Amino acid sequence: MSRLKYAAGIVSLALALVAFSTVSISMALVANGSWDDYKQPYKPNLPPVPLLDGVAPLGNHVVLVVIDGARPDIVEEADTPNIDWIRENGTWFNNAQCFTPSVSAPGAATIGTGAKSSISGVTSNLLELNGDIGIDNIFKIVNETETTAVAGSSEWMNLYGDWISVNKTIEGETLDMDEVIGEYAVSLIELYKPKLLLVHLYDTDHAGHKYGGAASDEYKQQITGADEEIGKIIQALNNSGILEETLFIVTSDHGFLDKGGHGGWEDDVLHILLTMRGPYVKHLEVDEEVFQDQIATTVSFFLGYRLPTGLTGGILFDVFDVDEEGKAMYQISLAEIKYKQFQWFAEQFNVKEQYEDTNSTLGQNVTSAKQLFVQGEYSEAFSSAEVIEDDCENLIKTVWEEKHSKEISSRLQMVSLIYVAALVPTIIIAFVFRRKIDWAIFSTAILGAIGYLVGFWTAFFASGWYFSISLWASPEEYISGAMSFIVAGLSVSGLAIGLTAKWTLNEKNRRGKIVLAALLGLVLVVIVNMIYISFYWVKWNYTLDWYFPEGRAWGDFSSSIFMLAQNAFVSVLSAISPVVALITSRMVTKLSKKPKP
Ligand SMILES: [Zn+2]
Repeated sequence: MSRLKYAAGIVSLALALVAFSTVSISMALVANGSWDDYKQPYKPNLPPVPLLDGVAPLGNHVVLVVIDGARPDIVEEADTPNIDWIRENGTWFNNAQCFTPSVSAPGAATIGTGAKSSISGVTSNLLELNGDIGIDNIFKIVNETETTAVAGSSEWMNLYGDWISVNKTIEGETLDMDEVIGEYAVSLIELYKPKLLLVHLYDTDHAGHKYGGAASDEYKQQITGADEEIGKIIQALNNSGILEETLFIVTSDHGFLDKGGHGGWEDDVLHILLTMRGPYVKHLEVDEEVFQDQIATTVSFFLGYRLPTGLTGGILFDVFDVDEEGKAMYQISLAEIKYKQFQWFAEQFNVKEQYEDTNSTLGQNVTSAKQLFVQGEYSEAFSSAEVIEDDCENLIKTVWEEKHSKEISSRLQMVSLIYVAALVPTIIIAFVFRRKIDWAIFSTAILGAIGYLVGFWTAFFASGWYFSISLWASPEEYISGAMSFIVAGLSVSGLAIGLTAKWTLNEKNRRGKIVLAALLGLVLVVIVNMIYISFYWVKWNYTLDWYFPEGRAWGDFSSSIFMLAQNAFVSVLSAISPVVALITSRMVTKLSKKPKP
């Protein structure tokens, strides 16, 4: 009879584990799916903001070369005579940075729009945009009157195809293509002399992923390979007679870890290559922080075009040896765009009335900055526009945060209700059956759960892991790592139960009780994980909200996905803990029965 009771207990606990894991897997799928399908609901695609006056461009062409995943310090180590030539004749940035998630398409989106991912809505490589990123960008601006061109991967056509006049691109994940892309770029220059040419060389990134990171020789060799292509492109510009009127920019979309990949917030991943050479460009080494969202605006400034209206970054004015007038005009335009963005967000978030006075003050300030410009007071106009820009930036941040905290509190209320709904019947049932509950099994289960958590996290941190997707050069590395931490946790859990069973569980039917305790312990582990995950549900709603991704938020999100996957693995491997517990308990009993010599 009693055996039957334990068998029924084991079956129901096993079913509970399966049920929890099914919920976990579904939640993980929803979370991942909502990342891939993410559509920014608040994409401020404002109408063009014209410049105050016509302006003479600093040059006639821009060539923007993106070396995928190139880390500046490894570029410095590698043999790169052509990049060195740009550096020696132009400006080199020692502290240029991208944003999270530090992956390719979000980087490409920022480079073209001058906007962070939280504005562009491009948060993954998997979005299908079919040539329209849905936000103002440098390709659109140039393509209104002139030729734009792309040589490289089709990623750029996905984002900007509607505004690219000519392209020579490669679909999908083709390896060792930089040489072909270099030829494409050369032929586009010879045939079209495009106003704006984007060249995307991506073998460096592929080598990093394939050979385990930026410390590999292959990664460095590909940087040298990319540099050779840059040499050919410079030669083609020279042959076409346009080199001296071209702003030549070399940058990267993201960095790379020595061992691992990219995607997170590590210094090596956020630091990008940035160097430029061209008319009016000073010979400089810049140590200050500059950001990826300052490239598109700088291209506009150089070519004398209006600024992209989704911009989050300013212009790299200091690179150019130019007078105050042009700088002041662009700074006023920058302030006016930020002012319009603020108005737009206030409207979207229904806080327009609340900020009415602020709004009219800012409007007056923009007008007076323009008046200063008209009166020829350029440096005064510049600094007052800078103040307006800062004020608007802070206001946008404030209204975003207000919106975010409102969302959090409404989700928190819902989660609290769910917890109460689950907890009340549990307490009632436990009270009614309090005499039938086997507290010995229950407390042993808690011991097993603690054992699991200790074993898992010890293995996790001992291997140097933390919550960043940068750590894995490939998904296989992630899966094998996660599995081994779970096996470690399950073993420690079983060991803890087996070692103490002799004292915590009485002899009658001990084996059945051990298995029950081990399974109940794992159910408790999954429940702890679920509570943790609901915290992230409150914070991020499991869909990547409009404030995502900003800084560490990316790591927070990946940690919740990791927890969900952990639940699923725990259930699949759940036999390990009871088996280890049984074996350990047997050994403990045997050893203690040994007669003393
Ligand atoms: Zn990339």
